Amino acid sequence: MTIFQKIIDREIPADIVYEDEEVCAFRDINPQAPVHILIIPKKRLPSVSQMAGADETLVGKLFYRAARIAEKEKLDDYRLVVNNGVGAGQTVFHLHVHLLGGRAFGWPPG
Ligand code: AMP
Repeated sequence: MTIFQKIIDREIPADIVYEDEEVCAFRDINPQAPVHILIIPKKRLPSVSQMAGADETLVGKLFYRAARIAEKEKLDDYRLVVNNGVGAGQTVFHLHVHLLGGRAFGWPPG
């Protein structure tokens, strides 16, 4: 079981900013920007590379929700990041979209 599953199950606390039947969003415990929110599916889905075709709509909802939360946080410019695999920086194997905002971002990312 991942730490994000424990957040969904309310076994550990988190600063949850949005929740519905399929999606949960909460503030990152180690923020990398003034706004750093993680948007996750409640379904157990380890990573983008392990998505099935049937998960297309669900993962689309993560991006839709990220945009709505960004509006609520009054962010015009923001970055959405999905790390896939250890080499790309993924540390929690429950698919999540990082919503980062409130500062300037460089390109290419590190
Ligand atoms: P990633 O490296 O893309 O897998 O991102 C995992 C993110 O989860 C990191 O930014 C962590 O800071 C964050 N994180 C880990 N544990 C928690 C937690 N208990 N509550 C909130 N965010 C967490």
